[in-house]
Amino acid sequence: MRFLTFLSILFFIACSTNNNPDQVFETKMNTKTPYAMVIHGGAGTITKENMSAENEKSIKAVLNKALEKGEQLLQGGADAIEVVEQVIHILEDSPHFNAGKGAVFNYDGKNEMDASIMEGAELKAGAVGGVSNVKHPISAARAVMEKSVHVLLTGKGAETFSKDQGLEIVDPSYFYTEDRMKALKGVKERAKKKMKISEKEKHGTVGCAVLDKKGNLAAGTSTGGMTNKRWNRIGDSPIIGAGTYANNKTCAVSCTGHGEYFIRYAVAHDLSAMMEYKGSSLAEAADEIINKKLIDAGGLGGLIAVDKDGNVAMPFNTPGMYRGYVKPGEKVVEIYGE
Ligand code: ASP
Repeated sequence: MRFLTFLSILFFIACSTNNNPDQVFETKMNTKTPYAMVIHGGAGTITKENMSAENEKSIKAVLNKALEKGEQLLQGGADAIEVVEQVIHILEDSPHFNAGKGAVFNYDGKNEMDASIMEGAELKAGAVGGVSNVKHPISAARAVMEKSVHVLLTGKGAETFSKDQGLEIVDPSYFYTEDRMKALKGVKERAKKKMKISEKEKHGTVGCAVLDKKGNLAAGTSTGGMTNKRWNRIGDSPIIGAGTYANNKTCAVSCTGHGEYFIRYAVAHDLSAMMEYKGSSLAEAADEIINKKLIDAGGLGGLIAVDKDGNVAMPFNTPGMYRGYVKPGEKVVEIYGE
């Protein structure tokens, strides 16, 4: 009996010291999600009225396929960076999204693609801009990160480097699609008549942000840029800190939207900085950037992000954004806004 009383006292003491910082840390660690992944296929004027049932179905199928692939890799213990690359391959191979196969045309009727990737453990990053024959620009970005001493390569140099690294090189005609050519002609026609051009016609992008089982974060972004772009214009997607960022202390993020604003507002890094310096939660910081700072500036778009605890955010200030996330026991795919 006395022994039981002694045990109860010990138990009481243990419970009453529960609020020390270590215990709080442990509780948080215990409740954090073991893995999480979030993806996007671009933000813009994406509304139910403008979308055929058939397109909606096949877009959702690609997004689901990407989430399933990512989850399977994560469950098997794959590294975040590997998951980002493989998941983006699926999105780059789909003509539905403005990246890889579905890249939009520039003013000269050519495809010039940009991509970047970053990992959050050592802040290593790689990117390519303006490539026209690399089948998977995200792999070129990863090769720059892992096999060169540089962060960003562009144009012919980036193409030569990709070829030397053994990446899949295709004839530029691989990227030709009727839909994108029609969009270019439409945009040019309306530009000539000084008519309004919808955001959807101008851009789109794909991206992926991942928290793996080891607690590492990584993010990647791949795009064809903006329809009718000219003069070797490069947007935010291959700019580390603008279109992509990852830091194990805070979050991994990929952006989509009017790139010039995302560069000027250093959107991807701003999200991480707000969490690190201001102590904002992922949701607060993401909402403030997309729905306040960018709206005030007139910048349209959105972002997807995952934090070090596996929380995800997918805000956008356009009518829609192709998006989805997966966590243990949870899988969501969405297209439209409210
Ligand atoms: N941000 C990309 C760019 O400006 C386009 C997009 O995401 O829609 O090139």
